[in-house]
Amino acid sequence: MPKKLVLIVIDGMTPAALERAIEQGRAPALAFLAEHGDYRLATSVFPSLTPVCISSIITGAGPGGHHIPSLVWWNREEQRIVEYGSSFPAIRAAGLSQSVVDTIYNMNASHLSRDATTMYEALDDAGLVAAAVNITCYRGPHRYPPTVPGLTRPAYGPRRFFYYGLFESDRTGAPFAVRNRRGGSVDAYATAVGRWLVTRDGFDCFAYYLSGYDFASHASGPEGEDAERALEQSDAAVGALFEAAGGPDEFLARYAVVLLSDHGQTPVERAARLEEPFADLTHEVVVAASNRAGQVYLRPDASVDVAGLAKRLDTFPAVDVTLRREGDDVIARRDGADAPVEKLDHPDAAWRARSALANPNAGELLVSAAQDWELTDLGGRHHAGGGSHGSLVAGDSFVPVVTVGVEGEVRRITDVAPAVLAHFGVAVPASMEALTGVG
Ligand SMILES: [Zn+2]
Repeated sequence: MPKKLVLIVIDGMTPAALERAIEQGRAPALAFLAEHGDYRLATSVFPSLTPVCISSIITGAGPGGHHIPSLVWWNREEQRIVEYGSSFPAIRAAGLSQSVVDTIYNMNASHLSRDATTMYEALDDAGLVAAAVNITCYRGPHRYPPTVPGLTRPAYGPRRFFYYGLFESDRTGAPFAVRNRRGGSVDAYATAVGRWLVTRDGFDCFAYYLSGYDFASHASGPEGEDAERALEQSDAAVGALFEAAGGPDEFLARYAVVLLSDHGQTPVERAARLEEPFADLTHEVVVAASNRAGQVYLRPDASVDVAGLAKRLDTFPAVDVTLRREGDDVIARRDGADAPVEKLDHPDAAWRARSALANPNAGELLVSAAQDWELTDLGGRHHAGGGSHGSLVAGDSFVPVVTVGVEGEVRRITDVAPAVLAHFGVAVPASMEALTGVG
């Protein structure tokens, strides 16, 4: 039997932040894993925003396969904005209760493509016990009624499932509070659940998702003190799993590990409204932007052409590249000139752009923000002075990956699910897009 496996996802952790913390002795648990495993960089997907990236990690498919296009997008079928939580003002602007339902339920129940198999579904089919805490992509075969009054609709997750205290497969005694998010209370819940799971050895594969780092890095920037402190907390959350196993060596004797982040972060100094260059076209287009990526959708009766929309952004300083389809070609427009996407020098740009545009929920024009810039969300919020992500640039796109006891190279975040399934000898579904050497 292969070892059981723990998949640790530290949201927004950059390679530099991880390397610095290890060098300075501030991350003993992560250092231990790096010492005993293989370290490499992998590329994220586009847009490099959490719902898109996490869905890619768990389904082993790019956005063209799993159909989650961004943090905020236009649902053509329902003719409305879907907003998964850019900021509180943004979800208020999109409709508070609708946003809550979209984030908690619809992302997994209806937005995530039925044709994309999740890692949990494949493991469960093979008779293995999948576990997950707090991760945004959770779809599995087991039904869970909500634990809180006011919600009635069930969610469908893996065999062991813990989601922000709202859905719980088991009573662990883990307290949930969002009140002190800055102090790490969300990850404290994940840690308590993780400790409970490891103590019981209650899974074959456990997706351990920690969001505190990304939250802090948005506030202080990826090099800021808040981010450094948050990474120490993430490290302690990993250390808590070691302790529950009886120590780091005992932990690795029992578990293989994949540790990575979902996207990077870059410092942002300025913010702009992507709606502005299209202000005269509100009857023709819908603009959905957040963090460092945006999408422009044509309304059904629009008469403007997409190339013309791209040209409008030539003099808009917040934009680095736009992407659009012309027949089978993907055109990247940068510095006022069109070129085949293969000419872009951003990490893994052609595959990421093609997958993003192959998503039926994507806009006709995709926007990747320039270095230092952010695009304000529906509520007018941004992180200028802090950190952000979403674009094709290297800092948003590269993630650190540590594997211990797992064969196969994770070169894209979509390689994780096929590598995990291959580790357990489970057939890799056709919907997963393993790059090389895995599956
Ligand atoms: Zn983020």
